[in-house]
Amino acid sequence: MTLPRQTGFFGHPAGLRTLFFAELWERFSYYGMRALLVLFMTAPIAAGGLGWDVAKAGPIYGLYTAMVYLFSLPGGWIADRLIGQRSAVFWGGVLIMCGHIVLAIPFEASFLPGLGFVVLGTGLLKPNISTMVGHLYAPDDERRDAGFSIFYIAINIGALLAPLVTASLAQEQWFKDVLTGWGMSPASSWHWGFGATAVGMALGLIWYVVDGKTLGDAGMKPAVTDAADAAKAKRQFWTAAAVILGFVALVAALQVSGTITLTTQSVSNAFGVFLLLAVLAFFSWLLLDRSWTTEERKRLVVTAVLFLGAAVFWSVFEQAGSTLTLFAERSTQNELLGMSFGSGKWQSVNSLWVVILAPIFAWLWVRLASRNPSSTAKFSLGLVFVSASFILMVPAAQLAASGDRVGWWWLLGCYFLQTIGEMCISPVGLSAMTKLAPARIGSMMMGVWFMATSVGNFIGGQVASVYEKFSLPQLFGVVGLYALVFAGVMALLVKPIKRMLART
Ligand code: GLN
Repeated sequence: MTLPRQTGFFGHPAGLRTLFFAELWERFSYYGMRALLVLFMTAPIAAGGLGWDVAKAGPIYGLYTAMVYLFSLPGGWIADRLIGQRSAVFWGGVLIMCGHIVLAIPFEASFLPGLGFVVLGTGLLKPNISTMVGHLYAPDDERRDAGFSIFYIAINIGALLAPLVTASLAQEQWFKDVLTGWGMSPASSWHWGFGATAVGMALGLIWYVVDGKTLGDAGMKPAVTDAADAAKAKRQFWTAAAVILGFVALVAALQVSGTITLTTQSVSNAFGVFLLLAVLAFFSWLLLDRSWTTEERKRLVVTAVLFLGAAVFWSVFEQAGSTLTLFAERSTQNELLGMSFGSGKWQSVNSLWVVILAPIFAWLWVRLASRNPSSTAKFSLGLVFVSASFILMVPAAQLAASGDRVGWWWLLGCYFLQTIGEMCISPVGLSAMTKLAPARIGSMMMGVWFMATSVGNFIGGQVASVYEKFSLPQLFGVVGLYALVFAGVMALLVKPIKRMLART
């Protein structure tokens, strides 16, 4: 394969520019919609929402965000074996755009199919665009890590801008007045928010195609080139698709005939069991495979430990879209300099902190040089910070318990602590996975990393479902303690892991 042009974007390959803006807009559409998701589901029908209670909205939020990331595994597999990353990213973008267009249609029936399209599309796009960043550099190119940091900033610029746009359209009075002026129902404002995310994805797709020449032939072909293997992969794909569709059709038929009654909770519980079994089966298969060398097996054990830390971290962190959004909506003064703003905008704050803090952390890790803590130690630290973010919210929740709204600085501080935690976990984890993975399963490790996010999102959604059942100080306190316990577990593992990796 010829490497794409090696300069042209801040001293990085020009292809990074193409992927930077494509991912920026993809994340714009993902986070723009996520900012509204729980709010739209729980808003009263008269206000244009679905009028669902939190106990139903929480698991749906968790299921949706968990599936988005879980589909990264098949998404990576399809690119590797069938169509190559280049097409996978394109078709993923098309599916995401279609999903958001469907969500923009103001009918309740459009909601779940719209989410389904976004799940399939993101599964195809997200892991493969990240892998393509790696393809831009020669294996020994020292700019690779910096390239990933620039890419992480793109993610967060998209995530920062999106809620500002979508929450303004969906929640603020000025846009409702505009709609009324156009003779439309102000309650349809949510769907304009969803529509904006479709426009974002369309811009990303246009950019990806028009600027695509910078990518050379990166990701043009599947990694599997042997004709017999390709034919086998095709058969496996169609068999899996038929089994899944058959299963869905069977469950739908049983539901329609009244043989079974599916509730959000039962589907969510079943998915939880499935996810747990999938993770256990995957790691058992990985660790029990006899073909690994002793060295490789040790590194795989470390990936399993990091997976655990990451899943716990994301389960707390990803509550930004669920419990913390509900707290912003119901218990925070959403007002700055005398101007009020939609609660969905809070979801921009983490990304704002990332854009500010990421360069500081990049500098810090380099500065620490040989004293740079191990990945396990950084994961433990990340968990301490995310735990602190929820413990900080305990007094805020106590203040809010009297019915008063608390000042915006509580959530600002909470997101500050969470972002410090994210800096210790997210870029560190991505790079650790690529370093620890045995070469022949390199790309699958990207899928494994996102599987930890999937587990985390699922648990995060479950927590939201009990938002109204527990007293808030208690709920936030328990979440904080849970993260702290796992911070302790990771801290205890730092030395044994160091010793294990040092032993040859
Ligand atoms: N915020 C990052 C992104 O959107 C990381 C998300 C995650 O893995 N939980 O890509």
